[in-house]
Amino acid sequence: MPRLFAGIGDAMPIGRYKVAILADIATVKPLRALIILAALCAFAPCEFAAARVIPLPRPRPPEISPIPSAQDATPEEAPPSACRLRLTAELAVAPSLPALAGPGECVVDDVVRLEAVRLADKTQVAVTPPAIVRCSFAEAIVHWVRDDVVPAVRSLEGALKSIDNYAAYDCRGRNRIIGARLSEHGKANALDIRSFKLANGTVVELTDATVAKDFRERLRKDTCARFSTVLGPGSDGYHENHVHVDLAERVGGHRMCQWEVREPGDEAAQVPLPRPRPASAKP
Ligand SMILES: [Zn+2]
Repeated sequence: MPRLFAGIGDAMPIGRYKVAILADIATVKPLRALIILAALCAFAPCEFAAARVIPLPRPRPPEISPIPSAQDATPEEAPPSACRLRLTAELAVAPSLPALAGPGECVVDDVVRLEAVRLADKTQVAVTPPAIVRCSFAEAIVHWVRDDVVPAVRSLEGALKSIDNYAAYDCRGRNRIIGARLSEHGKANALDIRSFKLANGTVVELTDATVAKDFRERLRKDTCARFSTVLGPGSDGYHENHVHVDLAERVGGHRMCQWEVREPGDEAAQVPLPRPRPASAKP
């Protein structure tokens, strides 16, 4: 045992010395590099190079505050709205979302992501893609699908599988015109629908003149009775391939129902000549 210790003892000073020399060399090189770097930094920004030499985390700038996650925000904090309590899991798959914070006027509370409407027979009608809308509007869509659309589609001898969400929440002016009055889409109070998909795979375009006219007329009548604004073909030129529905509130409860249910020949006839404005349409 003592022999062994002596052996190690003899070697130790040399070992320590070597380590010390190596350490000196190791510190001198980066030091020299730092001096050169400091000189260079006087002339040009060198944040990247400095970060490589000194691998220390940069301090967080004081103005950056942590971004709250979806879990930190409402809806858990606020008591559920009356609408939220009515829009049960029996009626829809529509989880609550945090309030929409804008920009500008596009601030909306009590928002849901309407993923599917549940029917009385427990089957679901998907909303594809899910629509971000205010709860009261989601509720209107749910009852429209259950009470109007599903029975109307049954008249086509089909079962409704999904409705096509062409646009829902979107902070913009009417008809995407910059500077126009805020669209109901900006209030999460509107939906554009292009088509319905049936269980057998058939896609029923709402503005397709070859789709059974009875079906489209029935749907138009029911839709206009439920929503305060319905715009389709023949309304303003912006709704030739889809139908817009919203729950805009107007003075005196004025409603707007502008959806021309066309016959197959109508579209061909209108190509060479401008169609006369229908008497029912408002200027
Ligand atoms: Zn629209």
